[in-house]
Amino acid sequence: MRRMVCGALCGALMLGTLGISGCAPQEARSAYAMTLEYFPETRTLEGEMAVQIVNTSDSAHETLCFQLWPNAYREGAAYAPVSELFAPAAYYNGASYGGIEVHEVDGAAGFRVAGEDENILEVTLAEPLYPDERAALTMSFTVTLAQIDHRLGVGENAVTLTGFYPVLCACGGTQEHVYAALGDPFVSECADYEVTFTLPESYGVAYTGTGERTVSDGKAAYHVRAEGVRDFAMVCSEHFQVLEGSADGIPVTYYYLDDGAPETTLAAACQSLSYYGASFGEYAYAQYTVVETDFPYGGMEYPMLSMIANDLREEEVPLVVAHETAHQWWYAMVGSDQFCEAWQDEGLAEFSAALFLQAHPEYGMTYEDCVAASENSYRAFFSVWSQVSEGENTAMRRPLTDFSGEYEYRNVVYDKGLILFDRLYDLLGERKTLAALRDYAKAYAGKIAPPEALIACFAQRGAYAEGIFTSFLDGTCVI
Ligand SMILES: [Zn+2]
Repeated sequence: MRRMVCGALCGALMLGTLGISGCAPQEARSAYAMTLEYFPETRTLEGEMAVQIVNTSDSAHETLCFQLWPNAYREGAAYAPVSELFAPAAYYNGASYGGIEVHEVDGAAGFRVAGEDENILEVTLAEPLYPDERAALTMSFTVTLAQIDHRLGVGENAVTLTGFYPVLCACGGTQEHVYAALGDPFVSECADYEVTFTLPESYGVAYTGTGERTVSDGKAAYHVRAEGVRDFAMVCSEHFQVLEGSADGIPVTYYYLDDGAPETTLAAACQSLSYYGASFGEYAYAQYTVVETDFPYGGMEYPMLSMIANDLREEEVPLVVAHETAHQWWYAMVGSDQFCEAWQDEGLAEFSAALFLQAHPEYGMTYEDCVAASENSYRAFFSVWSQVSEGENTAMRRPLTDFSGEYEYRNVVYDKGLILFDRLYDLLGERKTLAALRDYAKAYAGKIAPPEALIACFAQRGAYAEGIFTSFLDGTCVI
């Protein structure tokens, strides 16, 4: 049923009836304070969390919902975290399961695990939370980690901790999502984080935010702060090596495992951060970190932190780093509905990476190479797809759960996404295209931008831009 709600929402947005989402622009922010400890011998993370929720909507809430992403890793989950295609590689030790148990929630009238797939913590408030009011809750939880090379789990070389805590659902704690094996099903609002994380001192930790490390009795404690970030992520390993650089005064740190050319990876991170800052508007945070970890999907973005997979081929690394770094603008700073409108941040990240590679020929790939690769891939996909599927659907505006698999998703969201922005670039030229993206970044930093906001920024520079978006998003254009 929750999928149906999302589908209905996407459908309504397609009609251009913007404003029906009920998500008010974010100004006041919620705040999370967490005390966490990781125990390697039991593969468990113990957590205590005090959260201050501010009601930014225009209606009163009697319940608040939090996503319980770790439950996607439990045995019998209906929405598993990896597809059958990637499961053998991800579960390197055979089947393994995890999950989250919430022990108590203080400051509420009650709580229960709910949602379509035990993916929601529903907290009943002691009294209604009216617009602009704050509610203070504290909760304790235990996360059990599966042995898996993925976003959350004990990997072969690193312990990856993302989506590990109950995070307030988007739209002020009302918009639920199930996990999706393809794409990034995470939609969350910007908040402030203060985290103390303890684990054996043999581990190094890459994380969202800035902080310091203290050591005593064989344990390391990280004290971390991050302001205005829509998620909080950490990656821990006993095998990290570290390289430091900077981009326009922003410290950039690269934690790596067995990267054969770590200086090149760090350079791509620094240069892309600098390039995007000059092109789209200043980077909003005080630090940027890239971390190499066990991950089957190339790379993954978090605020102030990008993960890259340790199985990338050397020539793939600059493109992946450039793509993930672009997500600091298109996801971290400017949020979007990644569940229903995955093209919005992925298309922009692909386009931004192509622009960066054009400006940096030392990586051996031109803008035209990127676009040609996507066009070839998409045309091959379409020719196969139109033969095997009845009434093929190449519309880009679809919930993640509507895609049949990795192949369709990759081509419709990433390749077609890049081609969409290339067509706009071709018609508008560089100056107007970058001006449109700067306007978009400035107006929606710290918020979740509806697709119409992005379309409007381009349409202001050329009347035909809206038609291009429509033909791509509805699936009527011919490529
Ligand atoms: Zn991406």
